[in-house]
Amino acid sequence: MAKKSFAVIGLGRFGQALIDELIRLDHDVLVMDKDPDQIQKAAKKATHAVAVDTTDAAALKDIGITSIDHVVVAIGKDIQASILTTLILKELGVKNITVKVQNEYHEKVVAKLGVDDTVFPEKSAGYNLASRLSTGEFVTDYYDIGDKHTFFSVELTEDKMTSAQVDPVNLKNQIKKVASVELVAIHQNQAVYTPKDEIEVIEGAELWLLGSHAEMKLFIKEWFKDTKPEE
Ligand code: ATP
Repeated sequence: MAKKSFAVIGLGRFGQALIDELIRLDHDVLVMDKDPDQIQKAAKKATHAVAVDTTDAAALKDIGITSIDHVVVAIGKDIQASILTTLILKELGVKNITVKVQNEYHEKVVAKLGVDDTVFPEKSAGYNLASRLSTGEFVTDYYDIGDKHTFFSVELTEDKMTSAQVDPVNLKNQIKKVASVELVAIHQNQAVYTPKDEIEVIEGAELWLLGSHAEMKLFIKEWFKDTKPEE
């Protein structure tokens, strides 16, 4: 698969975290910011770093922005600059655009410009924290998939170790009886197995499950009803 190229506009905390991770994942990253000091710092790590005001359409075109696979607009407080930059990127024909939005109005305007991929970090962080608090200490990790579904993990505790559950197929069936969640993977002894693998599931195994938020909550409530959370 060809390596994807990315551009990140705006080197606030969000933009910087994004470029660090993209570089770690071995992608080419073009970074742009109107502040030359930020660009000087970023030049040490990014593939290309350009000091430019991205509300200048001609400058963006000269940089070759249209040859980039995916552009992220991470300008924060200056909503006007974010919207204008997004409009220019659309007009230049950039196909994949993600915009970091500051509030719901910003999100709406960006959607009107034809961008359907937005990130609202404060909202996501609040939402994730609420999910974590409401699922309690039994969920060890989770990733939301879309608005309604989640991929989450729980530990197979000692009190759940009946002989029926040691076999992955039986374990999957036991789980299905509790809620409509699907056992997708079993992580134990530094290896990942599917429920089809012929293994013996051990105490402490990490079970990865997929289901809607509502079914996840039902599963946690029922599966752990007799289990005391660890202090
Ligand atoms: P974070 O929460 O991620 O720190 P923020 O909301 O504080 O972000 P800002 O500091 O407002 O974000 O903006 C991020 C960066 O965007 C800044 O480094 C700023 O220089 C840059 N920026 C703002 N306007 C433009 C523009 N027109 N062209 C290029 N870069 C811009």
